[in-house]
Amino acid sequence: MSVTAREIRLASRPTGWPTDDNFAFADVELASPSAGELLVRNTFMSVDPYMRGRMNDAKSYVPPYEVGKALEGGAVGEVVESGVDGVTPGDLVLHNAGWRSHALVSQYTPLTPVDGVSPSHFLGALGMPALTAYVGLLDIAEFKPGETVFVSGAAGAVGSLVGQFARLKGAGRVIGSAGSADKVAHLKNKLGFDAAFNYREGDVRELLTRAAPDGIDVYFDNVGGDHLEAAIDSLRRDGRVAACGSISMYNEKELPPGPRNLYLLVGKRLTLRGFIVLDHNDRFGAMAKEVGQWLADGKLVAEETFADGLDNAPAAFLGMLRGENTGKMVVRL
Ligand code: NAP
Repeated sequence: MSVTAREIRLASRPTGWPTDDNFAFADVELASPSAGELLVRNTFMSVDPYMRGRMNDAKSYVPPYEVGKALEGGAVGEVVESGVDGVTPGDLVLHNAGWRSHALVSQYTPLTPVDGVSPSHFLGALGMPALTAYVGLLDIAEFKPGETVFVSGAAGAVGSLVGQFARLKGAGRVIGSAGSADKVAHLKNKLGFDAAFNYREGDVRELLTRAAPDGIDVYFDNVGGDHLEAAIDSLRRDGRVAACGSISMYNEKELPPGPRNLYLLVGKRLTLRGFIVLDHNDRFGAMAKEVGQWLADGKLVAEETFADGLDNAPAAFLGMLRGENTGKMVVRL
């Protein structure tokens, strides 16, 4: 069997905010899979902040996307034709050939459908963002029950799980920041955060001090910049920062100075530790077991924002960077 696959390529590298011109659509013919390969039809694909970094020609923990080549990223696909013993058409797999309608893949993870759980969650609450939240909170920040946790980007894929994991694991207080009044209401009313603020409404340092007058023990940093500086001010003695991402800077042409208060790390005996989820795949089983149970018991809200159709993937990606998502942004193909 051969299929015509539609794919999205990097047409040019963005400077600052990406635009539609940075993406190009192309049709390619895919042959039948060779031995060891699967031909899959993608049903869901992920758009993630790290993809913005891969659009730059810069050395990082993953190589840059190549201009003129298809973009890639997490996707759930249904097997159309199999070159692998034991895998049959209709089976679901997780793989990294997103940004296209169909793909030939040789590296994939078989997925076992779970009753009542959309396969899209393997890109979010049961996937990479969940592992990021789990490892960052428990292993990197070494969260302990009773502690006060502050997470930025709190209404997004990773942040919304960090706050809920902290609550489910016995946090004394969970505080989140997000970019709209609706998101703040979502955090407090639906996700069980004790306090939340809209960072666009004023000085982050003042907003955080008001939300956490007694200080914080853990800061899960998704945003960087003014959020990190405010958190360093609010951290109590022996506080920890899990440095997960700095989305406030990904589209900036000039990086802001700071944080200006790093000297506080000394007197307060603070730890600031960066991490990359790819280094922690050994924790996937523990995460999936615990988080899967919370989902099955209805204790965890796994919010998703969907965009429909491959043609809308660039808009979904840009929308996610601008904050149009609540929970995980997923493209439904
Ligand atoms: P997400 O939070 O679902 O989506 C991105 C969110 O960032 C938007 O919804 C937007 O929400 C917020 N945002 C955009 N510009 C901002 C700004 N200037 N200031 C504050 N917030 C801003 O994305 P995610 O996948 O969960 O990723 C969250 C963070 O984790 C990112 O920094 C990402 O790079 C990082 N990450 C790291 C790893 C790792 O291995 N270290 C793995 C996965 C993700 P608002 O409406 O609230 O502004």
